[in-house]
Amino acid sequence: TSALVWFRRDLRSFDHAALHRALHFAGRVHCAFVFDTAILDALSSRRDRRVEFIHASLAELDAALDAMSRAAGGQGAGIIVRHGRAEDEIPRLALELGVDKVFVNRDYEPDAIVRDSRVAQRLAEAGIGCEDFKDQVIFERDEVLTQAGKPFSVFTPYRSAWLKAADDFQMKPYPVERHAQRLAPKPAGEALPSLAGIGFEPAGLAELRMPTGMSGGRRLFEDFAARIGRYAQARDFPALKGVSYLSVHLRFGTVSIRQLAAHAWRDGGDGAQAWLGELIWRDFYHQILWHHPHVVARAFRPEYDGVVWDDAPGLFAAWAEARTGYPIVDAAMRQLAQTGYMHNRLRMIVASFLSKDLGIDWRLGERHFAAHLNDYDLAANNGGWQWAASTGCDAQPYFRIFNPVTQSQKFDPGGRFIRRYLPELARVPDTFIHAPWTMGGIDQSACRTRIGVDYPAPIVDHAAARERTLKRFGVLKA
Ligand code: FAD
Repeated sequence: TSALVWFRRDLRSFDHAALHRALHFAGRVHCAFVFDTAILDALSSRRDRRVEFIHASLAELDAALDAMSRAAGGQGAGIIVRHGRAEDEIPRLALELGVDKVFVNRDYEPDAIVRDSRVAQRLAEAGIGCEDFKDQVIFERDEVLTQAGKPFSVFTPYRSAWLKAADDFQMKPYPVERHAQRLAPKPAGEALPSLAGIGFEPAGLAELRMPTGMSGGRRLFEDFAARIGRYAQARDFPALKGVSYLSVHLRFGTVSIRQLAAHAWRDGGDGAQAWLGELIWRDFYHQILWHHPHVVARAFRPEYDGVVWDDAPGLFAAWAEARTGYPIVDAAMRQLAQTGYMHNRLRMIVASFLSKDLGIDWRLGERHFAAHLNDYDLAANNGGWQWAASTGCDAQPYFRIFNPVTQSQKFDPGGRFIRRYLPELARVPDTFIHAPWTMGGIDQSACRTRIGVDYPAPIVDHAAARERTLKRFGVLKA
């Protein structure tokens, strides 16, 4: 028997459900990845950090599979990489290789579900089986339900039920080393295409010192594990190294969710428990997307589809290009543009600012994040945006409106983060850093930041915007 493992968002050669099962099932196991033109063609730039991340991670995976096969007495192995529509490429490759079955780890996004069912159908027509497995979350689909057997839409009781259901079995790794000699050598002439070969250019990961692949994920996790005890205190301050920075690795599966969750679950300290809570949010939003795929295009709560947003392309551009005049918002948007990452507290602040201060449809912000976040994940991004815009499950109530100045004072007290990304405000005194438009003319000249010249005046008055938002949502409640 032979099998094909189709890698997607699981770019690792350890603790891998589909690979584990394939190696038990078949005497000969091929591995493949497709740079799917259905996804790549829709990207707005040919310099995309995620494509470079995947490319670098595949090179490491290729070498790791080879080394693992040889260490187990095999003839060497690797990953076959194709460029085309996955829907066509996988059935074609399965036929070429003559495999009996294709193994994949489940993807919960609506488009991926459609793609996977088409692939399974075409394989079935050719007499080839296809099996999928849970791998990217601890609990999926219907595994954690309310006592009435319904999906949860509120996080806190979901977390309690999740913690009650969690046990050693759910955290257990899927080892792959034992049967690694069954990994098949790559067909002659198969080589990883270059980035240029798939129509992309390097996007500067080396300059960002962004670690890729399994080794990068391991390095970040080891670094974080040494400071996980301080996570609960430090996580809300973007100027501090308080969070794990593992999101892109969780997105592409260069780390194992089971390994990370097990570490935090067994630790038991306050920091580890707080961090485990974030991993549970990740499962939570995945099951929301699975049960409620309408959230992709519409509000989780249908009554909020009635919110009338403003059509304000000029304000949207100012937000996207970091020209709002609110330093914490602009610094965050520059972090996103320059690095592809944004700290969670800042994601909440800028999402609230777009939807509640500018009155702009959250979907536009969500699309902007989708284009620029390295860790872009439909379930978490949609959940985060609907939370901030008050349209989602378990969202901020609409009348709780972040004040960008007090958020800034609270979470970047000395303005260290702001100054890192807005050098034009470097010399603004601490007292004015969160609201530089309140500086008088003398102070502006003294610190060489003239408002309206060197840095924009605020594009909106927060107090007035707040009133407009209360009215906008209040209509629905009437
Ligand atoms: P850590 O604090 O170290 O958290 C560890 C992991 O937990 C993260 O890597 C992530 O996988 C998960 N996690 C943390 N917070 C959340 C959350 N609120 N929801 C779901 N999972 C979470 N996260 C994404 O992975 N992709 C996105 O596209 C995304 N878009 C967001 C948009 C908005 C408007 C908001 C408010 C949040 C969004 N998040 C998203 C969640 C969160 O901001 C990021 O996961 C986090 O900032 C990543 O940094 P980290 O890995 O250092 O996080």
